[in-house]
Amino acid sequence: GSRAAGGRPRRRIGVMGGTFDPIHHGHLVAASEVADRFALDEVVFVPTGQPWQKTGTTVAEHRYLMTVIATASNPRFTVSRVDIDRPGPTYTRDTLVDLRRQEPDADWFFITGADALAAIMGWKNYEELFDLAHFIGVTRPGYQLSDLNLPSGAVTLIEVPALAISSTDCRRRVQAGGPVWYLVPDGVVQYIAKHGLYAGDGGPAGESA
Ligand code: ATP
Ligand code: MG
Repeated sequence: GSRAAGGRPRRRIGVMGGTFDPIHHGHLVAASEVADRFALDEVVFVPTGQPWQKTGTTVAEHRYLMTVIATASNPRFTVSRVDIDRPGPTYTRDTLVDLRRQEPDADWFFITGADALAAIMGWKNYEELFDLAHFIGVTRPGYQLSDLNLPSGAVTLIEVPALAISSTDCRRRVQAGGPVWYLVPDGVVQYIAKHGLYAGDGGPAGESA
């Protein structure tokens, strides 16, 4: 049903997981579109701790703060520390279990780009995730959503404005002295410059532990 035990309507909460190294307008547009189309009350951005499939990620605290800066002006956007405060690698299952524990009476929606959705479908026991949230796959330039063999009912695919932006490209640009203006929010451009992030390999921003 759509009502919680007390008669209040159930809150609808989106979860936008990511490394956010750095957060960019592709993430923000995806979250905003899904929030509108699915009438979400809130979208929680959850920066990963140490992503199990990535190495050399920027310190979690920088990624967390850039995510806070990028989302601060949107009253529906919030940021959660569940993944960065949990020791060890980040698994989406743990993220959803921890978030749901905080608000068991909500309806949960996990937002994921076409590339990340394809990766999830390759995991062992991925069906478990569908008991924890409804999955929403959003289009992303360079990746095909339609090729995926999706279990019916558990995943909804939606088209969002195509922004060919990736964090990897943003990092490479900064490293090469190129611009990231208009790819990431202004405050994030300034945060990157202030802390010298992505300036070079093994610099002070690199994560060693
Ligand atoms: P990286 O290049 O470091 O992997 P990224 O740009 O892919 O960074 P992530 O933090 O890995 O960003 O992505 C978090 C989530 O946002 C994933 O579900 C991803 O598919 C989605 N996403 C990222 N960029 C876009 C985009 N431009 N359009 C739609 N979805 C996106
Ligand atoms: Mg990625």
